[in-house]
Amino acid sequence: MSILVVGTVAFDAIETPFGKTDQVVGGSALHFSRSASYFHKPVYLVSVVGDDFPKGVIDDLGRRGVDTTGLQVKAGQKSFFWSGKYRTDLNSRDTLDTQLNVLEHFEPYLPPALRKPDYLMLGNLVPALQKQVLDQLAHKPRLVVMDTMNLWLDIARADVLTNLKLVDLVVLNDEEARQLSGEYSLVKAAQAIRRMGPDRVVIKKGEHGALLFHKDDIFFAPALPLEEVFDPTGAGDCFAGGFVGYLASSRDVSFENMKSALIYGSAMASFCVEQFGSERLLSLTGKDIRGRVKQFLELIQIDIELG
Ligand code: AMP
Repeated sequence: MSILVVGTVAFDAIETPFGKTDQVVGGSALHFSRSASYFHKPVYLVSVVGDDFPKGVIDDLGRRGVDTTGLQVKAGQKSFFWSGKYRTDLNSRDTLDTQLNVLEHFEPYLPPALRKPDYLMLGNLVPALQKQVLDQLAHKPRLVVMDTMNLWLDIARADVLTNLKLVDLVVLNDEEARQLSGEYSLVKAAQAIRRMGPDRVVIKKGEHGALLFHKDDIFFAPALPLEEVFDPTGAGDCFAGGFVGYLASSRDVSFENMKSALIYGSAMASFCVEQFGSERLLSLTGKDIRGRVKQFLELIQIDIELG
């Protein structure tokens, strides 16, 4: 089994109602691989950074079982930079700045050993670059999962639609699902998105949980009601990392098993929001994760006798 992720590795500046940081490492591929590596190793990471990116962070990924052979380090260039500010409800945020820097001329290259992944995560990235990765595959993976964001729906919608025809599952937040489909009802939105290509759709609703759609089946996983939510940045990618990582570790992509994967993804997202970026994921243990999943199960367990 192998997991391959393509996405950004970045510097982020984040402001939430609880704190502010001018620089924390982030990016969709970084958050995803930190999360997925708790379930399955290796995670092959394909991305690009400038030589300003801390070598210690790359070395740490290696120690976690993340293979960074596909991470290009460009001398004399600056890493991708993103800055965002959360509103008081923490469910919505404004992008303050996006500097593509090294991403501007990035051409993802899959070394031959990386062209046959079993699980492929197309993390949030320029859609044309996600497509370049799909074009280099030597065979069809067991599962291709794709993420995107409002920016790409605004400026590269046609490319997003092309990719949707080629993937098995798309992960979006509620706002993105509505923007993509033009439907307000998330049930109708998921139906419309499934007609665009992917067989399965996951819609994340921040602190209100996540929904998994397949044919006429719907499954709902709540988000844990946490006392402290510090910074939601990266929660979506950590969710995807737990979701795909769990599927890879259990070698089962059935709808039934995806229900469990949704819970594991939600558990990883719940850790992520406790600190800036995905810093909280640097110090987790298997016991922490099992304990959190147990809390989820207790939250949703109910015995009702229908008379
Ligand atoms: P999430 O909170 O899960 O949406 O992911 C946040 C991460 O996405 C941050 O760490 C950013 O570095 C990264 N990001 C922000 N904007 C973009 C973009 N336009 N393309 C790719 N990654 C981005």
